[in-house]
Amino acid sequence: MNTTAERGIDRSQMTVSDEVAIQITNMNKWYGAFHVLRDINMTVNRGERIVICGPSGSGKSTLIRCINRLEEHQAGQIIVDGTELSSDLKNIDKVRSEVGMVFQHFNLFPHLTILENLTLAPIWVRKTPKREAEETAMYYLEKVKIPEQANKFPGQLSGGQQQRVAIARSLCMKPRIMLFDEPTSALDPEMIKEVLDTMIELAEEGMTMLCVTHEMGFAQAVANRVVFMDQGQIVEQNEPNEFFNNPQSERTQLFLSQIL
Ligand code: ADP
Ligand code: MG
Repeated sequence: MNTTAERGIDRSQMTVSDEVAIQITNMNKWYGAFHVLRDINMTVNRGERIVICGPSGSGKSTLIRCINRLEEHQAGQIIVDGTELSSDLKNIDKVRSEVGMVFQHFNLFPHLTILENLTLAPIWVRKTPKREAEETAMYYLEKVKIPEQANKFPGQLSGGQQQRVAIARSLCMKPRIMLFDEPTSALDPEMIKEVLDTMIELAEEGMTMLCVTHEMGFAQAVANRVVFMDQGQIVEQNEPNEFFNNPQSERTQLFLSQIL
């Protein structure tokens, strides 16, 4: 069977629109006295696929988590799909309903079947009728190519399969934006590709994606922009070819020399 990577990536669908999906302006965040994010400015248009990289501790996860308010910022502005994130709970709910998130660890409920994991939020949060929620869940399980696992429990699946379930679970909420925080870094090497293939397909369908990842092959193939962070700042960003072949700052050059 041909995987996505083998048959080549279809960039024809990967169009970026003029419409702004996420606007971050002069955003700062502290953990207590520790200034973790400094003057972050970033505009993400609909359809963009952005890879965020940088050394451990540079603030990548914190930035991603601020975008769906898993972390609170203290200064500046984050606007997602026209809604400003503040302490207003209604706005937070609205943004979370449009933003899906996939973590390094899959965070599936171990005592629920795969199907139950996928239908839980649609049924209880969205009040979707059970049957409809199950149909949607099966649709996305087909999409991530594991419909036969629907009635198993997470512990019976491989890591790569569990991560694909986690992606399907997010998709069941019909997000307009997907955030990924090192989705393959807890996986054995042979399972990384199947998860990246799923992400590539999402990109081909036009999903707006922000991915923290060290998979530079994925960045080269899929991203339209690579953002490099260090010490809480965006140091440099560029389209992948320029970013990898002609990095401007010394910090970026050093980072790339260490990982490539
Ligand atoms: P990255 O994802 O780039 O590795 P993180 O965003 O996880 O970086 O962390 C950035 C910095 O903030 C690190 O120095 C980390 O130790 C610190 N940090 C992360 N989470 C917290 C927290 N909840 N409380 C205090 N410090 C934190
Ligand atoms: Mg992190």
